[in-house]
Amino acid sequence: MDFLIATHNMKKRAELERILKPLGINVLTAEEAGVNLTDVEETGTTFEENAELKAQSGCKESGMPCIADDSGLMVDALDGAPGVYSARFAGGHGDDRKNNDKLMDCLKNVKAEDRTAKYVACVCCVFPDGRKFTVRGECHGVIGFEEKGSNGFGYDPLFYIDGRAFAEFLPEEKDKISHRGNALRKLAEELPKYL
Ligand code: IMP
Repeated sequence: MDFLIATHNMKKRAELERILKPLGINVLTAEEAGVNLTDVEETGTTFEENAELKAQSGCKESGMPCIADDSGLMVDALDGAPGVYSARFAGGHGDDRKNNDKLMDCLKNVKAEDRTAKYVACVCCVFPDGRKFTVRGECHGVIGFEEKGSNGFGYDPLFYIDGRAFAEFLPEEKDKISHRGNALRKLAEELPKYL
């Protein structure tokens, strides 16, 4: 069964393929499916809302079942910010350097024990007959005082688990405990009920 995935990110495509192939699901990006998807504005205030906006739109425009995700970082000392604004925390979209600098600046007076944070990932699946479901994965850690490591992306050099930055984890180590890994494992558990 073919599923459209509302992402152009080839790393996410590979991750989805790895998890969904054993369920008999063939994932296709818009280019691979030969459909033209409108860029969806992420106007939701929650990860769940944004994931659903993208999955609904992809399903409607392609007529295929569609999977979309939304993710980000929530810092307790910042009342959950940057949250759904993680990619554009410092203004421009996806500028990791500026986003990490801004995060360090916002937390400069926050002591170690108050620097708790979590990554969140929501994945929504919408079917042409209107059925839909959303799963959520989380990963808890703390924001360090300095950047470490060169793997991963985004806030990974500052997001620490047990003294190690996520950017120091190997990709397969990160997959085992990450918010996205946890959400995708739930997706794989839930999807067969809908097939
Ligand atoms: P998106 O869901 O791919 O749009 O990601 C939103 C933003 O959240 C990214 O641009 C990153 O800033 C941040 N983010 C989400 N997941 C991760 C992760 O695993 N590592 C680092 N940053 C992440």
